[in-house]
Amino acid sequence: MNEIEILKQELAATIRAYNLKGWSPATSTNYSFRTKLDTELIYVSRSGVDKSLFSETDFIEIDRLGQPKSGNNIAIPSAETLIHCVLYDLFPETGVILHSHSVYPVLISQKLQNNIHFTGYEIQKGFSGQISHADEISIPIFENTQDMTAFSRVLIDNKAALDNHSFIIKKHGTYAWGETLFEAKRHLETLEYLCQCEWMSRND
Ligand SMILES: [Zn+2]
Repeated sequence: MNEIEILKQELAATIRAYNLKGWSPATSTNYSFRTKLDTELIYVSRSGVDKSLFSETDFIEIDRLGQPKSGNNIAIPSAETLIHCVLYDLFPETGVILHSHSVYPVLISQKLQNNIHFTGYEIQKGFSGQISHADEISIPIFENTQDMTAFSRVLIDNKAALDNHSFIIKKHGTYAWGETLFEAKRHLETLEYLCQCEWMSRND
């Protein structure tokens, strides 16, 4: 099996596992990867798939602008595909992008404006570059929109605030990315855990 087929299987397994956590209800969320062999070619999850059943055949190939490659005309990429394209452009080392519609970021984001701060949590070190629980880190919270072109501009304008490889969309969910699936998972799971801790500690 080649590298692409292995990644399809591994990411599909991750998508099914995250669905069991309740992070992708009602066919929501989207995921993608690319390899260093061809960074112009992005494999993104097909729209409208029940994520509990997601398989390695549910990825479609798109170019850097989000256009399906020829032969893939039947399957539609997710509406949020442009977010993936912009993140790959902004952070060229990125190999995998994950998205979640989990409950805690949705809950806590509606109480906050612009960003959420975390300090004192051991798991903060799950973000690449963070070496101590004692530091304060900030994750951006962006307003939700259906206008993906406008949202792409927001990401470009806030590139400097994306240094922890993740962000929250208000009352929508989270995005996280990494050079590898292993690293992208670590970033997403770190943010999800932190949001859960903050929500529960503020509402106990
Ligand atoms: Zn979404």
